[in-house]
Amino acid sequence: MFHVEHNEPTPEWMKQMFHVEHFNDAMRPWSPGSEQLPCFLTHTNQKTSDIIRANLTQSSLYGGYIKSTGVRYCPSIEDKIVKFPEHAQHHVFIEPEGRQSIEIYPNGLSNSLPEAIQQELIKSIPGLEQAEFIHYAYAIEYDYSDPTQLTHALESKLVENLFLAGQINGTTGYEEAAAQGFVAGINAVMKLRCQQPVYFSRNESYIGVLIDDLVTKGVDEPYRIFTSRAEHRLLLRQDNAVFRMLGIAKKIGIVPAVVIDETEDHVVKINNEMEKLEKVYSDGHTLMQVLCRPGMKYKDLPGVKNLPDEVVQQIEIRAKYQGYIKREEEQIVRMEKNESAVIPAWVNYHEIKTLRYESRQKLIKIRPGNLGQASRIPGVNPADIAILSVWIKRGRK
Ligand SMILES: Cc1cc2nc3c(=O)[nH]c(=O)nc-3n(C[C@H](O)[C@H](O)[C@H](O)COP(=O)(O)OP(=O)(O)OC[C@H]3O[C@@H](n4cnc5c(N)ncnc54)[C@H](O)[C@@H]3O)c2cc1C
Repeated sequence: MFHVEHNEPTPEWMKQMFHVEHFNDAMRPWSPGSEQLPCFLTHTNQKTSDIIRANLTQSSLYGGYIKSTGVRYCPSIEDKIVKFPEHAQHHVFIEPEGRQSIEIYPNGLSNSLPEAIQQELIKSIPGLEQAEFIHYAYAIEYDYSDPTQLTHALESKLVENLFLAGQINGTTGYEEAAAQGFVAGINAVMKLRCQQPVYFSRNESYIGVLIDDLVTKGVDEPYRIFTSRAEHRLLLRQDNAVFRMLGIAKKIGIVPAVVIDETEDHVVKINNEMEKLEKVYSDGHTLMQVLCRPGMKYKDLPGVKNLPDEVVQQIEIRAKYQGYIKREEEQIVRMEKNESAVIPAWVNYHEIKTLRYESRQKLIKIRPGNLGQASRIPGVNPADIAILSVWIKRGRK
């Protein structure tokens, strides 16, 4: 939004900006939630809707100037007016752009209309009648490279040593780009070191879910990750992230040894204590059963140790949700049978005539690494997986 030459000192006004894109040293240390400024709310109305509807043919998105699919989770105001005609109004958050700035961002009005129409529509909104424009809204269109051409290490299957991450793979969003950049970066280094790639599985991280979705299913609209995309949400918790990622953190060496040692020590303490709670009785019940009672805390149990907070938290969570957690773990074990059934390189899908045509085409295109990945490809059904499994078991002719 603002251009500053690198050799010029940061101007005072810019140091005051606090929008995430403007974060700079002058804003450190900022404690989240502190020193907040008011953010206001207004709404579009019938007049706004009429202006937009009357000028839809001039919108880049609706006038056919842009052919791409818009971001479903971040609809433009034209999208909202067209797709939700039953709504008489839409939220517009009035967000100040900085502490000393007169600039505000009207969040909820992203659009691709000509400047004159933007002027008209802004002035139709209560509170914005006198607004002056500093920047106009705009739409961008970009190409992407089909992510099904990538391995789970984010390396191209077509061009060796080419790693792709972020929006170029058909995703949208900061987190999606960062997660893929992390994985592609790690794997580029592993390749340089002639070491095995690092894979993130669906069962251990949202990064794993994101990458598996991209490379096995592909994208037909800008992709965002959601918790609902994961089959095992109960295991992908924030509180257990350090434990889930311990193996990978050790392997790639990005976490200080002292943190790894401490986390490993916590794992031992959690397991030992959970085992003990299953064995020790109090009034005819195991301490584990007592801990599972509503409102019961670890510290309320008789004769318990003084353990670190992180360990106590894990014991309490794992005890209280153990039924559900166990069920998910059993599901994972069942699914892992498919994940470990590697599809050998000699498999030639053209030869497997018993596969349905659609399924064969998808498998040829995506070339999944194992039966689990194959089963998640849209259009490949369980009967196709059974045929493929038998074909692999029979071995190479
Ligand atoms: C206006 C706007 C608002 C957004 N708001 C949000 C939001 O609120 N939340 C959210 O999660 N996401 C938001 N996004 C989406 C998010 O910014 C992108 O999805 C994300 O930044 C993509 O990251 P990337 O690293 O894949 O690509 P980019 O961030 O686009 O990085 C690609 C880089 O490659 C460089 N480059 C291009 N060609 C070459 C070349 N030939 N040689 C060398 N370098 C080159 C570019 O200059 C650029 O720096 C927004 C996007 C826009 C445009």
